[in-house]
Amino acid sequence: MQTYTPPLRDMRFVIHELHDSSALAQLPGLEEMTPDLLNTILEEAGKFISATLLPLNASGDAEGCRYENGVVRTPKGFKEAYKAFIDGGWGALSSDPEYGGQGLPQSAAKLVEEMICGCNLSFGLYPGLSHGAYLALKSHGADALKNVYLPKLVDGSWTGTMCLTESHCGTDLGLLRTKAVPQADGSYRITGSKIFISAGEHDLTENIIHLVLARTPDAPPGIKGISLFVVPKFLPNADGSVGPRNGVKCTGIEHKMGIKASATCQISTRWASRRPRPARSPSMRPPDSWSANRTRACVRCSS
Ligand SMILES: Cc1cc2nc3c(=O)[nH]c(=O)nc-3n(C[C@H](O)[C@H](O)[C@H](O)COP(=O)(O)OP(=O)(O)OC[C@H]3O[C@@H](n4cnc5c(N)ncnc54)[C@H](O)[C@@H]3O)c2cc1C
Repeated sequence: MQTYTPPLRDMRFVIHELHDSSALAQLPGLEEMTPDLLNTILEEAGKFISATLLPLNASGDAEGCRYENGVVRTPKGFKEAYKAFIDGGWGALSSDPEYGGQGLPQSAAKLVEEMICGCNLSFGLYPGLSHGAYLALKSHGADALKNVYLPKLVDGSWTGTMCLTESHCGTDLGLLRTKAVPQADGSYRITGSKIFISAGEHDLTENIIHLVLARTPDAPPGIKGISLFVVPKFLPNADGSVGPRNGVKCTGIEHKMGIKASATCQISTRWASRRPRPARSPSMRPPDSWSANRTRACVRCSS
C-alpha cells in the first residue's frame, strides 16, 4: 500500500524561514495572511490530499482512462474525488477573489500543488491545466470572455486545456497548421488537429474550455503568426449555463507509460470560437452572439 507523509516541516522551513512569510501581509490583498494561517492551510491540504487522492493513485494507473466514441471515462473514484476537491475550494486557492477565488499567494498554492502531484500526478493534471487556462485568459482575455469563463474555471465546474501540439510540431510551434477563419459575427471557425492534449476530454465536469493555438489567414509565417482562441466543448448560453455542443471532438487517447489516469487526448476542431483580445478591444461582442456559427462535422485527427 502506498503511503504519503506531507512534507510540512520542509515546507514551513521554506515558506517561513527562507522566504519570511510574515512579509506577505504587507502586500495588497494579503493583509490577513499570517504564518499561522498558512500553516493551517498546508496541514488541512495535506490531510485532504493524502486521504482522498493518494488511494486513487495506484488504482487509477492500473485502470487508466477509457475512450469510447469520443467519450473519455476516468478511472473509478476520480469523479467523486474531483467533486470533493472543488467543493473544498482546493482548486481556487490562488485565484482572484473577483472571480470566486480565495486570493492566497502563489507560494502557498504551489506547496499544495506539490502535495497533489506527490500523491497523484494524474489527478493533479486536471485542475493544473484548468489553472493554466485561467491564468492565460485572465492575463490576455477580453472582459466579455473573462466574465463567462473565469468563474467556472475557478470554481472547477468547468476545466481548461492548452491545445498547442500537432502531430508534426511540438517544440517548434511555428510550424502549426490549425486554421482560424474569421466569421461575419466576429467569431472564428477553427479547423485542425491537436495531439497530446492533457485533460482534453473526460467525465469530471459538464464543460471543457480549450485554449487553442491557430493561425489566421493573413498571419505571418512562424511563431509570430500564431493566435490563441477559446474553444468551449459546449457553447455557453448568455446566462453562463451550458448551451449547444461545439465542433471540438476527442478522437482518441494516447497509450503511455505512467499517469494513465490522466487523459492525454487527440483533439480535432472545426467550429466557431472566440479569440481572447486585449481587454480594451472595442470589437469584442457580448456572449449572446456566440450562437451564430455553430455547425459542422469534426475532422478526424491525422495522427
Ligand atoms: C504526458 C504529456 C502531456 C502533454 N500535454 C500537452 C498538452 O496539454 N497540450 C499540448 O499542447 N501538448 C502537450 N504535450 C506535448 C508536449 O508539449 C510536447 O511533447 C513537447 O512540446 C515536445 O514536442 P515533441 O514531443 O513533438 O518533441 P520534439 O519537438 O520532436 O522534440 C524532441 C526532442 O528534440 C529536442 N529539440 C526539438 N527541437 C529542437 C531544436 N530546434 N534544437 C535542439 N533540440 C531540439 C527537444 O528538446 C526534445 O528533446 C504533452 C506531452 C506529454 C508527453
